[in-house]
Amino acid sequence: MTVRTRFAPSPTGFLHLGGARTALFCWLYARRFSGQFILRIEDTDLERSNSELVQAILDGMEWLELDWDEGPFYQMERIDRYREIIAQLLAEGNAYKCYCSKERLIDLREKQMAVKEKPRYDGLCRMQDPKDSDQPYVIRFKNPQEGSVTFDDQVHGTITFQNSELDDLIIARSDGTPTYNLTVVVDDMDMNITHVIRGADHINNTPRQINLLKALGAELPIYAHVPMILGPDGKKLSKRRNAVSIMQYHDFGYLPDALLNYLVRLGWSHGDQEIFSREEMIKCFDIKDVNKAPTIFDFDKLNWLNQHYMKTEDPEKVAPYLQHQMDLLGIDISSGPMLTEIVKVQAERCHTLKEMAEKSIYFYRDVTVYEEKAQKHLKLEAAVILEAVKEGVANLTDWTAESIHQVVIAVAEKLELKLGKVAQLVRVAVTGGTVSPPIDVTLELLGRECVLERLQRAIAFCEE
Ligand code: GLU
Repeated sequence: MTVRTRFAPSPTGFLHLGGARTALFCWLYARRFSGQFILRIEDTDLERSNSELVQAILDGMEWLELDWDEGPFYQMERIDRYREIIAQLLAEGNAYKCYCSKERLIDLREKQMAVKEKPRYDGLCRMQDPKDSDQPYVIRFKNPQEGSVTFDDQVHGTITFQNSELDDLIIARSDGTPTYNLTVVVDDMDMNITHVIRGADHINNTPRQINLLKALGAELPIYAHVPMILGPDGKKLSKRRNAVSIMQYHDFGYLPDALLNYLVRLGWSHGDQEIFSREEMIKCFDIKDVNKAPTIFDFDKLNWLNQHYMKTEDPEKVAPYLQHQMDLLGIDISSGPMLTEIVKVQAERCHTLKEMAEKSIYFYRDVTVYEEKAQKHLKLEAAVILEAVKEGVANLTDWTAESIHQVVIAVAEKLELKLGKVAQLVRVAVTGGTVSPPIDVTLELLGRECVLERLQRAIAFCEE
């Protein structure tokens, strides 16, 4: 059997963390077993779907580099096929037209709730089998009334629902449009999906979908419902609080590899290993090892992983993501050091690329003001130290961190100062603040001309 998984988001919202993790698990499972991964956009909810949200899903998938083998398929382009299946179900006596008015259904519901029964359709039109009329109608599936549906969920184990708990599902609305459970079933059948991996919020749909698949004579896929992701407060991620678009993590300054590594560990583990390259994830992942308990989202761990990837990935690979941050800050990097150099020297002091960009502004923009806590270093007596450094570096024949370091040592010795004091003063002078990579490296990256200019400006400031 060739494994075929699908990720089937509805473009009624952005691709958020939960969706991205489902996509990752589907992708990993297909890659692990050399199968196919299919992308399907479930866009039949016309009121809530729009093309921007579809694009946001595609952008998110591309940013995470979760490549699909087939699709994207759009359900709106398959409406004729759903109509065909609905007609088939009607013709074969597996579905019926229901003419019950809204008022009747509301009334029924209220009566059931009043006696503490679960609200459900009572099957009036199924029993009466009404003849065609010109009144509006919906089409309902004739759910078996006896017996039960059992499936072996790869995450939750065996799950059984009694058919008596399930009412006759609407498969076509009064305007003829097919409903979610119908479209999913037709697509999973036509696309030969072998493994349905999706959020645990779909468990209750599964027995209905299985009954529909059986009525259509289709083979049943294997199901795996992955646990929900909860916010740090233990509550469901909500759009308002933290279920923001995955592309916002791009703007927050996370690397896609770090986010993937973070997501794969939400509910899945392999011994106590924390760091997984894509190749390792593919090699080790099995949906059967996913835990069924909900998992808690933890920014500290994501930050830790992000720093790990900023430090260990090829700077050439990280630089474009830092460029994105520079663009967001409106910083032109053409006159400063290469971004790969910034990644090398800053990764160990930052957790996100946004932080890295913010802490590297002085490499690209002139320093004309000094932070308040930096100013206390720039006293009159500091001018002579800066002068000495300026003279030393002006005369260097080679502009390297090593030779710059020697100058700083020489000045400290000559003026009988601690090395750290000289270094910190120079730091304030050239960066405007008190934090930067080692001073020799910082000066090397800034370049001689820039350093001389900034030292001179700081000297003038001391003498004011
Ligand atoms: N379109 C559904 C959703 O976004 C998923 C359907 C499925 O995976 O079966 O929740």
